Amino acid sequence: MSTPSSNPCLDCGACCMSFRVSFYWTEGLDLPDGLSEQVTPHLACMAGTNASSPRCAALGRGSEGPMACGVYESRPSPCREVQIGDDKCTRARARHGLAPLPA
Ligand code: SF4
Ligand code: SF4
Repeated sequence: MSTPSSNPCLDCGACCMSFRVSFYWTEGLDLPDGLSEQVTPHLACMAGTNASSPRCAALGRGSEGPMACGVYESRPSPCREVQIGDDKCTRARARHGLAPLPA
């Protein structure tokens, strides 16, 4: 998800409902209890994203919009890397029947 100011992410959240959001476990140390899951001894993921129909447990918990991230300042690197209109954004939006956005 990209920056929270005046952008379509706040009404979208498709990339938070499409992939396993996994990261080296130490990235999750600042997350509230229950919002990460251990995948392997060294790998964790956002709770809810290691499912056949992924949905991050932090999605919709922010105050900026209906699909705002509830842990925006602590979100792990995969979340910081997705940019509006990039390949991952486009694939996630397509998965949820949403048109691609310009980069
Ligand atoms: S899929 Fe794209 S538009 Fe939707 S939340 Fe993710 S980065 Fe934002
Ligand atoms: S931590 Fe936030 S940005 Fe990352 S997948 Fe969850 S809701 Fe989306």
